[in-house]
Amino acid sequence: MTKLNIRNCARCKRIFIPVGREKICPDCRAADLELEERVKAYVRDHPGITVNQLIEGSGAPRALVWRMIQQGQFENSGLKDAKYPCANCGKIITRGTYCSECMDKLKQNAQKFAAAMNSKRRQAKESSTGKTFSDSMYDALDNSRGR
Ligand SMILES: [Zn+2]
Ligand SMILES: [Zn+2]
Repeated sequence: MTKLNIRNCARCKRIFIPVGREKICPDCRAADLELEERVKAYVRDHPGITVNQLIEGSGAPRALVWRMIQQGQFENSGLKDAKYPCANCGKIITRGTYCSECMDKLKQNAQKFAAAMNSKRRQAKESSTGKTFSDSMYDALDNSRGR
């Protein structure tokens, strides 16, 4: 029997059946989309406005507008100053989720993690025979000399 996958909507707390990793219910999603359309229409009607003017004028939540910028929904829309904060340090950025410094840090961490995993794997391999390849070679040579 498959477990029925239900979830509480992160916004209205109503129980719904999520599609994939959906966190909000279809009603809230529809409301979001409607809001996004309203925001886009607002930019169309007010070419050249800034993000702050858009948020104040349309009454849309800042997070929604930021997400839309991040998704590139305002490309060539006439929205000026399409910037939002880095998800990690809050520095103002214009693309991606993180600023370049945080991206570098994340990459370094990922590399460190990968290196740690590799050396662990190597150690495991070496300890499984107790000897490295070259040790076995010398052993073989010693044996062949008949000592
Ligand atoms: Zn909901
Ligand atoms: Zn950052």
